Amino acid sequence: MHAKVDQALDWLCPRVCVFCGLASGPDACCPGCRDDLPWIERPCCGCGTPLAPAHPTDRCPGCAAGADDMRIVSALIYAYPVDRLIASAKFRQRLDFAGALGEMLGAYLCGLRGEYALTRPDLIVPVPLHRRRMAARGFNQAEEIAAPVARRLGVPLRADVLRRARDTPEQTSLTGRARRRNITGAFTAPRSLNGLHVAIIDDVWTTGTTARAVARAAQAAGAGAVQVWTVARTVGPRGRSHDP
Ligand SMILES: [Zn+2]
Ligand SMILES: [Zn+2]
Repeated sequence: MHAKVDQALDWLCPRVCVFCGLASGPDACCPGCRDDLPWIERPCCGCGTPLAPAHPTDRCPGCAAGADDMRIVSALIYAYPVDRLIASAKFRQRLDFAGALGEMLGAYLCGLRGEYALTRPDLIVPVPLHRRRMAARGFNQAEEIAAPVARRLGVPLRADVLRRARDTPEQTSLTGRARRRNITGAFTAPRSLNGLHVAIIDDVWTTGTTARAVARAAQAAGAGAVQVWTVARTVGPRGRSHDP
């Protein structure tokens, strides 16, 4: 059904690449722009941080030491032009851009093979927005990104299993410690997650404070396993980050 509707829409209004504006076929971006994007080709299997080509194992030193119990996957490095697309989606209300970001994340997740292959979750849950902010903005960026991912993976999207109980300031305006103080206890779960495996979706992994707080709320509600998937992640000045 989806495929037929998509086909009809492609014929009625052909899609154009979100980066260069050229015809892009069924995808949100054309093959040329897709090839030029800063994909994370060799991530750590634990925290998703990009590893140097010469790194001897598939885990960063922190994850090799057993630092984390949840898998984090990011598709792209948060750099031009991905950063522009994410900012435009959020602040210029470009829902089509958010959908395109979700398509890119979905394609990346589907392409993970071998030691990178995903464990399929039971639910996909976007990082919730407080209802006041939702009312002001009109949409939740994370939910718009999550929708194409859920469709592509055939996993139910559930935006109602977690709530943002407190309206917190934008994390980007705060320092590390203030971020953690700002977000602690901001998320709640109205009902039990009963052993379900949950994949949490957000736009960018920066310090991970927000996504970790959401993951903790899911675990406190009884989630059996939690992963975090983001479109992009920031990396250190030398292009590597071992700090999840
Ligand atoms: Zn293009
Ligand atoms: Zn790692």
